[in-house]
Amino acid sequence: MANLTKLEDIVSLCKRRGFIFQSSEIYGGLASCYDYGPLGSELKRNVRNAWWKSAVQMRDDVVGLDCSIFMHPLVWKASGHADKFADIVTVCKKCNVRSRVDHLVEHAEQHTEHVPVETALKDAKDLSKKKCPACGAVGQFTEPMPFRLMFETQMGANVEDSMTIFLRPETAQGIFVNFRNVLDTTRVKLPFGIAQIGKSFRNEVTTKAFIFRTREFEQAEIEFFCAPGTDEKWFEHWKEFRFKWYTELGMKKENLRMREHEKDELAHYAKGCVDVEYKFPFGSGDWQELEGIANRTDFDLRQHQRGMRTLNSWYEKKGDLSKIELNSESEEYQKGPLSYFDEETKQRFIPYVIEPSAGIDRSCLAFLVDAYDEDEVNGEKRGLLRFHPALAPVKAAIFPLVKKDGLPEIAANMYDDLKKYFSCFYDEKGAVGRRYRRQDEAGTPYCITVDGQTKEDQTVTIRERDSMKQERINLSQVKQYLREKLDM
Ligand code: ATP
Repeated sequence: MANLTKLEDIVSLCKRRGFIFQSSEIYGGLASCYDYGPLGSELKRNVRNAWWKSAVQMRDDVVGLDCSIFMHPLVWKASGHADKFADIVTVCKKCNVRSRVDHLVEHAEQHTEHVPVETALKDAKDLSKKKCPACGAVGQFTEPMPFRLMFETQMGANVEDSMTIFLRPETAQGIFVNFRNVLDTTRVKLPFGIAQIGKSFRNEVTTKAFIFRTREFEQAEIEFFCAPGTDEKWFEHWKEFRFKWYTELGMKKENLRMREHEKDELAHYAKGCVDVEYKFPFGSGDWQELEGIANRTDFDLRQHQRGMRTLNSWYEKKGDLSKIELNSESEEYQKGPLSYFDEETKQRFIPYVIEPSAGIDRSCLAFLVDAYDEDEVNGEKRGLLRFHPALAPVKAAIFPLVKKDGLPEIAANMYDDLKKYFSCFYDEKGAVGRRYRRQDEAGTPYCITVDGQTKEDQTVTIRERDSMKQERINLSQVKQYLREKLDM
């Protein structure tokens, strides 16, 4: 069963077969940063494409966006990240390792996010009996302190005009600040969503478990705008829609669940939040967040209206965020620049937002874990990835049975034709059984072998990965056969 898979098996497979490598490995590696290899980059692209297809291409009510990573610093003041996006941490006096207090106290995995840092510090519990996860020392922790999660950098070539900007810790804000642009340039009408996939950065304190939590990662987020009063209906819709996305791509239902947030877990503005959780094989086989879906009310657009009202002070204080207070909200905020005019009801208001926020890397890990399997073939262990065809990095591998008698030419011709439509792989080296095994481990759903009989009757063998069943079909039908089986 997939949830009994050990993370080490996945990590070792990923390295051995070129799915995922440690970043800068030849320099000893860079902690918590990873590179996707030839198979991994295909997998990741397929996960992205599957998300985009379901969230944008197949829906009439969601449009796409691709924003820059660098944004105006005031964006992060308005969103709350500049002041509040921190973890409360403590350092073990014995081994000097930093730990998140929420990880020591309970098994929650929450950044303080929209809780003011001072409140989170006040709430930090007594650590005198807590054990350091790194060295085991008990009660050796320093006073809890905030640890900011946003990476900073300097923008601008000259000293005078250089300013501190942040690497975005989520893609969502790019959507909110473009709400007006999308409204003004497209035909969208409420309810509608804006979707984006892109890199986010967080200087995470605890990084663990391979690509589960990294400092640079990719998010896939939708902000779905709707009229207040319809938000609960849409919240339910997105919960169901997003859960189905995972199961339709082959993830086993028993490894997935939906967890409703407790009232005290909710940000003050949020009306509801659920996590789609996956039973990852680490952290004692715990359920861990794969995606968060939240009813964020009208909080974000209202905050950005306040942000826009703060621009003067930004210039006066020469962009020093620490000296800037966000301006209060106009009494007329419902008619503000980020409001929406409903032609039918003739009313103007700030839309509510439902936000499904998924992680592409975390999804890749879950799909890898879920697809990983071992069985036995003729007394030999077979490791395989039972990927859904849409996610499989290579859709078909093409082999000549032997490297002579004109078989490589026939196989190479077929490969040249098929690769125009599917991602394919040609391999003529070694025993065919070993070539099958390599493809099983890469998750390739079909292997096509050209053999002596091909020259006589124009048929080839197609072998299916999971059942290992083989059938002979005519060379001329291979493309159509794959099209149907792969649904592409
Ligand atoms: P966690 O509590 O696990 O740190 P979070 O609640 O802060 O996550 P969100 O801000 O809701 O996460 O981000 C939405 C999604 O983005 C997460 O469900 C996850 O899939 C992904 N994600 C967030 N942080 C990371 C990270 N450091 N590495 C990889 N993926 C991440």
